[in-house]
Amino acid sequence: MRRIFVFLCMALASFPALAQYAPANADWNRPMPPFRIADNLYYVGVKGVAAYLIVTPQGDMLLDIGFRETVPLVEASIRKLGFHVGDVHILLLSHAHFDHAGGLAAMKSATHARLLASPGDAPLLERGGRDDFAFGDRARFPPVKPDGLLQNGVPVRLDGVEMTPHFTPGHTKGCTTWTTTVRDRGQERHVVFACSLSTPGYQVVNNPKYPGMLQDYKTSIATMRGLPCDIFLAAHPEQFGMNRKLAELKKHPDGPNPFVDPAGYKAYLDESETELNEKAAAQGRKQGIQKPATTAH
Ligand SMILES: [Zn+2]
Repeated sequence: MRRIFVFLCMALASFPALAQYAPANADWNRPMPPFRIADNLYYVGVKGVAAYLIVTPQGDMLLDIGFRETVPLVEASIRKLGFHVGDVHILLLSHAHFDHAGGLAAMKSATHARLLASPGDAPLLERGGRDDFAFGDRARFPPVKPDGLLQNGVPVRLDGVEMTPHFTPGHTKGCTTWTTTVRDRGQERHVVFACSLSTPGYQVVNNPKYPGMLQDYKTSIATMRGLPCDIFLAAHPEQFGMNRKLAELKKHPDGPNPFVDPAGYKAYLDESETELNEKAAAQGRKQGIQKPATTAH
């Protein structure tokens, strides 16, 4: 499964001219029945890209929207759960790539919700993905102007519900990991929505378009390690084993919530860090740079 994901990322990196979504991504945009993850937190995304609805009596927050073509599917999922698309008051984002931000402009005009973005990703949103440090103009999406900028660690609040942004740059310059808390089966649970840590076709070492990339990834992984996590979620379902966990939830609806998975979160960070270090080492060798000293084992 992970291999497919890497393949799709590589496909994205290598397409000469990418419209809003390419054939390789069509599989990601297949409909997925919405479901409750815990408490007021719902999955309203599609098979391959996530979207999360956080419901409050005063209105709802939506984290990620998928491709431009995903918008009607997310809207249908919100309705299917018995909620109203017009109640989405705040739009949030993991990162400004076309497969997560592509539908923001359409969703914003459909709901008049306020879009809050990280300062690192706001310019890329306004450019509609143009002049991306890795994809150039190949991964465009309808441009959208944020209504406000987030501050690192300062929560977005709606009727007592808090979503807190943690800036974890690398995958994009404004990649944002979000946290909140929910009550699940009588317990308070920390939720982490991890931003992507993959490096699809990236030159992570000495990249003139993003000189601090490698250090940013490393700092971001350290930041993410410091976040308390019970419920582990991410921008792509396969990053947190959604299908397996959902099958388990359906099988044992009254059992322990399978989305509570601190070990899975740690494994995701460990695996991402290993891949990053291996890529950096290989690229460093290729560039004739001396490999940085590592601890001997
Ligand atoms: Zn991405």
